[in-house]
Amino acid sequence: MFDHIAQTIPYQSLDFAGSVQLTVKRLDLIHPQISGNKFFKLKYNLIEARQLGLKQMLTFGGAYSNHIAATAYAAQLFGFKSIGIIRGEELAHKPLNPTLTTAQQLGMQLVFVSREKYRQKNNHDWIDELTQHYPDTYIIPEGGTNELAIQGCQEILTTEDLNHYDVICCAVGTGGTITGLINASSSQQEILGFSALKGDFLQQDVSQLTHKSNWKILDDYCFGGYAKTTVELVSFINNFEQQYRIPLEQIYTGKMFYGIFDLISKGYFKENAKILILHSGGLQGRS
Ligand SMILES: *Cc1c(COP(=O)(O)O)cnc(C)c1O
Repeated sequence: MFDHIAQTIPYQSLDFAGSVQLTVKRLDLIHPQISGNKFFKLKYNLIEARQLGLKQMLTFGGAYSNHIAATAYAAQLFGFKSIGIIRGEELAHKPLNPTLTTAQQLGMQLVFVSREKYRQKNNHDWIDELTQHYPDTYIIPEGGTNELAIQGCQEILTTEDLNHYDVICCAVGTGGTITGLINASSSQQEILGFSALKGDFLQQDVSQLTHKSNWKILDDYCFGGYAKTTVELVSFINNFEQQYRIPLEQIYTGKMFYGIFDLISKGYFKENAKILILHSGGLQGRS
């Protein structure tokens, strides 16, 4: 299922009366559940799990997590069982939201844990415990970022993308996707990340993972932090969707597009810059 995907992703240029050229790479159209970048992040992890002869995938996420949805779907497609460790033990006694309903229908076993427990998601002791409790299991961290995910994200950009565009824009959560883009980029390109989270820790995390310097992560457009939103952001998204017929959401891609248009209005980009914008998906659960 992964073969040739990167070559077949549609591009859409935005009719935009300004001094730059905007093209959207529609990773959101790859698949409604394994949305956008998650597809690339899972690819080598699934291949690795299969080579190791493991039987199931286990990962972590919040109740609306795109990564949970993508993992549930991809695991089923590859013939793995899957387990989702979900933040919030109170959710176990409530009706499931669309994301978790779909995950469960795809065969994912949902395990609800307290927020306190969930915070230990990268703690070795807990990972060891999970490995013993669920044998033959491949564990993927929250958000899906690890070395193999970065390797997969290096395949998002085609040779044509590397030759043609001056700037590549993407939304940033854990930083796995942008790290793959940076690794693949040519040195004349600028990779510009729009953080969905507040703080400059992502800038530091990513600089540990690459020696290149042709990139930047801005948190100026996080609208107060992860999953926070404002009336202004919602209204921007509504207008954008009407004008360009491209669906966005408020956590990642809405904030990124808002930021890109704001930077254009401030003259950030050079005249006639060719800008490639990655639409990383995230539209599952919006039923
Ligand atoms: C997960 C996600 C991101 C962030 O990707 P990272 O590799 O974690 O930085 C961006 N956009 C969407 C729609 C996502 O679901």
